[in-house]
Amino acid sequence: MQELVGRCKECKKQIFCNDGFINGVVLEDKHLICFNCFDKEQEQSVDHND
Ligand SMILES: [Zn+2]
Repeated sequence: MQELVGRCKECKKQIFCNDGFINGVVLEDKHLICFNCFDKEQEQSVDHND
């Protein structure tokens, strides 16, 4: 079963919870962000050492 949890704070995409598994990330400030935008934020905040 699928339950709407909220929207991504970046792209406004709807984020669902599938059988207890959320297809996004809940941030410390309780905002939701999808995996795509989360990855982008991680890339921007992490130094690449390769
Ligand atoms: Zn997003």
